[in-house]
Amino acid sequence: MSDPDAQEKGARTILHLDMDAFYASVEVRDDPSLVGKPVVVGGSARRGVVSAASYEARKFGVHSAMPTAQAFRLCPQAIFLPVRMDRYIEVSDRVFEVFNRYTPLVEGLSIDEAFLDVTASHSLFGSGETIARRIKEDVAGELRLNVSAGVADSKFVAKIASDLHKPNALVVVPPGTSRQFLAKLPIERMWGVGAKTAPKLRALGFQTLGDLADAEVDRLERVLGSWGVEVRALARGDDARSVVPDREAKSIGAEETHDHDLTTRDEISRALLASAQRIAQRMTRAGVAGRTITVKLKLADFTLLTRQTTLTEAAADTMAIHDAACALLAKFPLKNARIRLTGLSLSGLEVRGAAPVLFPDKAAVKRQKLEELVRAVSDRYDGDDSAKMTRAALLGLSTKRTPQFK
Ligand SMILES: [Mg+2]
Repeated sequence: MSDPDAQEKGARTILHLDMDAFYASVEVRDDPSLVGKPVVVGGSARRGVVSAASYEARKFGVHSAMPTAQAFRLCPQAIFLPVRMDRYIEVSDRVFEVFNRYTPLVEGLSIDEAFLDVTASHSLFGSGETIARRIKEDVAGELRLNVSAGVADSKFVAKIASDLHKPNALVVVPPGTSRQFLAKLPIERMWGVGAKTAPKLRALGFQTLGDLADAEVDRLERVLGSWGVEVRALARGDDARSVVPDREAKSIGAEETHDHDLTTRDEISRALLASAQRIAQRMTRAGVAGRTITVKLKLADFTLLTRQTTLTEAAADTMAIHDAACALLAKFPLKNARIRLTGLSLSGLEVRGAAPVLFPDKAAVKRQKLEELVRAVSDRYDGDDSAKMTRAALLGLSTKRTPQFK
């Protein structure tokens, strides 16, 4: 491009914020006698799994998604507590109130994790790093909880950055340095590359994200199928996906790549319950309900299966969503199937009840300014044909197009 400001103009500032050991941290905060002790939140020892473990418990090898019985064997002295989802949702709403002070472009990924696009917020609140710092201070000061933050020019890199030095971390990747930042990281940092895929990639000589970035696509496709193209683009830091706030979303979904393949309907149903919970919370926050429900399963060989149905009444609560998902699950041919990814989404969204309160604080002038700035910036993006095309091509990770980002 001939415009010397083009690079500058196109650079976005995206934050990924992720609460540290959220459920366990809320329990410790609510009961100070637990401070400094290993705390495990999860299902019963008989059949349950760990939902969250405090960092003290993690030192013993306890981690989320592990059977509670195994956690007990590793760390019998830990305090085991049941999941209090209502409480976590309450606290989560307070956390998201803080996020919304700095931009209306907040996309919740789960109860304790969100992307924020703060590109338009700089003149009011400072750089991405400054905003991340202020959010961390607000959350620590008002809620006595820690949040880790990643700051970058794309969602993918911001998410990796926030996770790099947890807990209570702040990792800033300056614009234009994403590829360099990613290059040294091990391939396990790649979205969706877990215990199954990583050894296969390593066997082909791919050790780092830098190796993936430099790879010939067909070599990646040998292991990853059509997903190889996306993986290479992401490893280069090319990710033009926008932050889509829930209130403007066309669909709200949640998906999970599993460390171990799921092989029973029971396991899949449980995974879908976790997704239903996350979706229900985001829909409540956004004040919407959804009529069309889609279940997506990715098999170990990367075959993607989906089933969709339209409900007679729009759903917004966990049970209604999960019931519908389980009814759909019955329609999948699952004999001997090994499932590496489960996903659930609701579309056909409709607004219900009162509009959500986006800015609970009183700085009316500031927030009006902020809304204007955000609109101005999104207008600018919409006017830029190449950005628009790339964004359209990259909506969601399922596209097979290589991003044309420079
Ligand atoms: Mg978290």
